Amino acid sequence: MDYTKQRNNMVEHQIKARGITDERLLDALRKVERHLFIPGHSDHFAYSDGPMCIGEGQTISQPYIVALMLDMLKIKPEDIVLEIGTGSGYQTAIIAEIAGEVYSVERIPSLARNARKILDTLGYSNIKIQQGDGTIGWKPEKENEKDITFDAIIVSAAAPSIPEGLLTQLKEGGRLVLPCGSRFVQDLVCVRKENGNIIKENFGGCQFVPLIGEQGW
Ligand code: SAM
Repeated sequence: MDYTKQRNNMVEHQIKARGITDERLLDALRKVERHLFIPGHSDHFAYSDGPMCIGEGQTISQPYIVALMLDMLKIKPEDIVLEIGTGSGYQTAIIAEIAGEVYSVERIPSLARNARKILDTLGYSNIKIQQGDGTIGWKPEKENEKDITFDAIIVSAAAPSIPEGLLTQLKEGGRLVLPCGSRFVQDLVCVRKENGNIIKENFGGCQFVPLIGEQGW
């Protein structure tokens, strides 16, 4: 199977065709081999236009949704990014291609382990994965992470409201994107922190698995 061709088609017809133009992001989507992150025999559909099961009742998001959320964050090469909901690790790899460092939190131990394994195999050295409840943000593991803040935060599971812990870990001038709403339908919300104020923008309907934890469901 020609996966390179499938990835190029995915970028042309699912991503660029829907208005995403950031070349660094498009290059990352052309490069990262999505089929490697999909367990079992589903890799035949790895570049199709929708979410797919990754086990434990969880999903890898539709490629366009990954692109749209990352486009909203306007990630720069030196940025430090927090991701809540590592899942398969696919989106983590895309972020690692366009940012300086990625800190990622996954609630389900087996998913965190599998993601760590594949991302190590692929040679990413700018990714830290933590297993735990990401609704409270990154739990410091070292002295120099005690007051850590992030240039951008992406939440890949649906929250009932914006978790306070994540707002605290968002840098001044930073952006946070998350699906926010009920357990079954949500709006994609982009939050900016400017001069201590929280500015919210709504980007319309979406459907994600629930964010489960202290400041989630
Ligand atoms: N972006 C991922 C990928 O590329 O595969 C897909 C993420 S999936 C839609 C959402 C993930 O959020 C699931 O793996 C789920 O276990 C995780 N999750 C749910 N609640 C969480 C929490 N409180 N902290 C961390 N991860 C959580």
